[in-house]
Amino acid sequence: MKEYDVVVIGAGFGGPVAAKKCAEAGFRTLMLERSARVGEKVISGLTIPFYGFLFGPAFIRDGNPPIERPVDGIINYIIKDIEAGDIEIDDSLRIPRPLSPILAFGYNAYCRPFCQWEAEKAVESGVELRTSTTVVELLKEDGRVVGVKTDKGEEIRARLVIDGEGSQGLLAVGAGIREKYPPEVISLADVYDYEMAKEDVDEVFGYTLRFCWGWDEQRIAPPLGHGNGLMVWPYRESVHFCQDQCLAMDDGKVPNLRKLFEEYHRNLTSGLPWWREEIAPRARLRARVFENFEIFVGLNERLRAMPNHADGIILIGDAAGLESTELCDGVPAAWFSADIAADVAIEALRAGDVSASFLSRYDQRVRAHPIIQWSITAPHRYNLRFAQEHHSLEELRRYVHDGWGLGGFAFMSSALVKMILQAIREDPMIITSWLRMFPRYYYNWLYERYDYSGGRGEPARDHSREPRVAQAVLRAGFKLMDSALALGAPLVKAAAGLLEPVARFANPAMKVLLPGIEALMRGWKKVEPALAPLSDRMIDFVGRADPAVFAAPRKGGG
Ligand SMILES: Cc1cc2nc3c(=O)[nH]c(=O)nc-3n(C[C@H](O)[C@H](O)[C@H](O)COP(=O)(O)OP(=O)(O)OC[C@H]3O[C@@H](n4cnc5c(N)ncnc54)[C@H](O)[C@@H]3O)c2cc1C
Repeated sequence: MKEYDVVVIGAGFGGPVAAKKCAEAGFRTLMLERSARVGEKVISGLTIPFYGFLFGPAFIRDGNPPIERPVDGIINYIIKDIEAGDIEIDDSLRIPRPLSPILAFGYNAYCRPFCQWEAEKAVESGVELRTSTTVVELLKEDGRVVGVKTDKGEEIRARLVIDGEGSQGLLAVGAGIREKYPPEVISLADVYDYEMAKEDVDEVFGYTLRFCWGWDEQRIAPPLGHGNGLMVWPYRESVHFCQDQCLAMDDGKVPNLRKLFEEYHRNLTSGLPWWREEIAPRARLRARVFENFEIFVGLNERLRAMPNHADGIILIGDAAGLESTELCDGVPAAWFSADIAADVAIEALRAGDVSASFLSRYDQRVRAHPIIQWSITAPHRYNLRFAQEHHSLEELRRYVHDGWGLGGFAFMSSALVKMILQAIREDPMIITSWLRMFPRYYYNWLYERYDYSGGRGEPARDHSREPRVAQAVLRAGFKLMDSALALGAPLVKAAAGLLEPVARFANPAMKVLLPGIEALMRGWKKVEPALAPLSDRMIDFVGRADPAVFAAPRKGGG
């Protein structure tokens, strides 16, 4: 029987992060993935918010992950009466020009290249990866997890198992660690994948996402009564139309989702002028996929309290119930929890104690993580059901604006500020890593091409007209900041520490400041056309720069 220090189940978004860190710490680490090619069984990666990259694993932040498109905001369509064309638009969460699109609020990615890229980095760090291998059972001795059994009948022993199997959680349920979720908290997502020429995607979307919200009786989107919505995501040369709905209603009724999804899709694509006139003539349907994900687990205290570890095992990401109730953005939580799990695994292995009581520090750290906690417990998406029930346009506007608009900052600023200050306290140099990350990611979007049958294509770069003086100035500026931060590290750390209590007041402060900020944003929109040349110059500069200008200032990239 083979024996490893750590066996990681699943090479989705979270698994490779945990595996890489354990291997780097010198532990014999095996990662098992059921699909033949990493990432091909993951449906998602639609939008990964900026905080996933800022506070997530260092190798992702400092590297060149495969990104399909930066996102500068969401345009919400509140559809009051589709027949009459009575549609209200809220685009209060758009990063203004000239900062957009280089300063993005998120990035759209495709699962397969992204997960492949992460898994490659793990393998480079010494992880042994086996694909086409399904774990069918957790091996237990005296109630303690001691390894896994695969579909090939092989039994593999591990001092510790990290379970990143994703939302089904079948292994954790089978081993009695967690219970199956009730159907009211599981959503079925129906994703239509359209091919569209890059110029068309650029023209129609720019860098925005489009979300639609409406009333039940219009049958244009899954009933908001269950917190569902309809989202349209642009990629480099394709568009995803995604609708999702819980498997059962509050009263226990089970809707015929396949039939309903078809009806919503037909009504919306034929009724919404934006889709009918701008998308439909240019898009070609290439595939349709369904996937389940747990969505309201975090709001249910009993489900939230279900164990995320046991003797010999730690659960991460979706398997630990960390899918985001607020925005469905489960990738950041998968990364954060995988990072924490690896730290705890390393401590446990070094201490020779993998008991549940030792591993409980994982649970404590997940609970202390401000962004994970905000993302699993914030209720805006869920609250949409009340707007629907009350048929209140005012509530609908408010929840959309507070969940998918500027208003969100009145609820998430405290978590963000806390994370920023914590990260700076740990390492002040992170500030220049953050500053370099945004233009580097934008540069990648301009040049990288991905080969969906395998790895990534070679970027086509043209530095023939590089703006040498501007680059030299920027390079010198970054170096100066690096030196200043290195010299002033103790001072910067102390200042961040002193400011930490202030984080608590960020949400109330935003509530007070928001009307002013929103007025400013409205004014800014009026001057945006005048700023377009500046924005173009910035884009041109990033596009012609030597990528070394934006490279991570220290090891950790890839
Ligand atoms: C339709 C949809 C839209 C979403 N949109 C977003 C979004 O916009 N932004 C965002 O951040 N998040 C989004 N999410 C959520 C996000 O995809 C998940 O939270 C994230 O993928 C969780 O990562 P994970 O590593 O826990 O699991 P996954 O990424 O699901 O990885 C699990 C891996 O384990 C493998 N596996 C499963 N069982 C076994 C087994 N028995 N043996 C071996 N391997 C196994 C799977 O093949 C898979 O590779 C969305 C999810 C869905 C379904």
